[in-house]
Amino acid sequence: MSHVPPVDRSTIWPYRDGDPGEFFYARYAHPNGVEAERALGALEGGEALLFSSGAGATTAVALALLEPGQTIALAEGAYYGTAVLFRELERWGLHFVEFDQTRAPPPGVDLIWLEAPSNPFLTMPDLGAAAAHPAKVLVDSTAATPVYLRPLERGADLVLHSATKYLAGHDDALVGAVVCRDAADAERLREFRGRTGIVVGPDTAWLVHRGLKTLRVRIERQTESARELARRLHEHPGVERVRYPGFGGLLSFDAAGGAEAARGVETGTRVIRNATSLGGVDSVLETRARWEGERVPANLIRLSVGLEHVEELWRDLDGALRHAAGER
Ligand code: PLP
Repeated sequence: MSHVPPVDRSTIWPYRDGDPGEFFYARYAHPNGVEAERALGALEGGEALLFSSGAGATTAVALALLEPGQTIALAEGAYYGTAVLFRELERWGLHFVEFDQTRAPPPGVDLIWLEAPSNPFLTMPDLGAAAAHPAKVLVDSTAATPVYLRPLERGADLVLHSATKYLAGHDDALVGAVVCRDAADAERLREFRGRTGIVVGPDTAWLVHRGLKTLRVRIERQTESARELARRLHEHPGVERVRYPGFGGLLSFDAAGGAEAARGVETGTRVIRNATSLGGVDSVLETRARWEGERVPANLIRLSVGLEHVEELWRDLDGALRHAAGER
């Protein structure tokens, strides 16, 4: 057997003596998907399933594990697309309410949806309070990754990842994942995934598997740089506020001088590219109001720290902040 697993692009595998084996049709399972799921499951301490994107994984959880008329308590300030998606599913009888995840979730809900840390506000959930609630708890752990948080060990039932971000890690794979504590949840999600086809192909699964091999070194280095940048941004006269939870590569800050200054910063960097998403090896930043509107301050800039040298990143940021403040 080769050391690096080959990509198997088959969509069918012959039956053996007239019976289907572990793999028979790619919508249900394929070898590269199973390999990546085993690796992620081992990191999180549960049973992992890959989906076509983080949003696809969210859709599968909501539709497969809940019934029409049930309610999700969603962490306020979590990835805005999650609320947008739940609003879309309201037409099918799903309800959701938003709550402050640093406190106890509201009573009477059927699923608690936390985000650790939230994107782009960087709050951390009170996992203990959520675990004490009778409802199932899901943690979107995209920004924490299993390197900094293993939610299943802290009372969560389900972990969700936009694996597009840190797990794959190179801005070249759109993919999501759910990791389950209970075998019954995993089975139900697998059944739903096979029926609906919210699946990932073998090439993308292979990229996730490869990404996991360097996850720890990438995010530890990104943390080191992000910590230093957060510290320096905090002291910068061109910055009003910095949000950073103390770990991980994601932070956000508010530029002094409002939306105009923030636009100057995001268009003024050269090394850090003005692009969306997060979790890749290349640093990116953007103002979030363009997507999230009034839900975020107009001058909030989200920064995903990559693997460039921290001094190079600081020169770039400091230069753009000074430029935006008219200090050239
Ligand atoms: N969860 C979080 C925290 C995210 O940041 C994102 C995307 O930005 C998603 C879920 C959705 O994932 P995807 O873009 O892979 O569908």
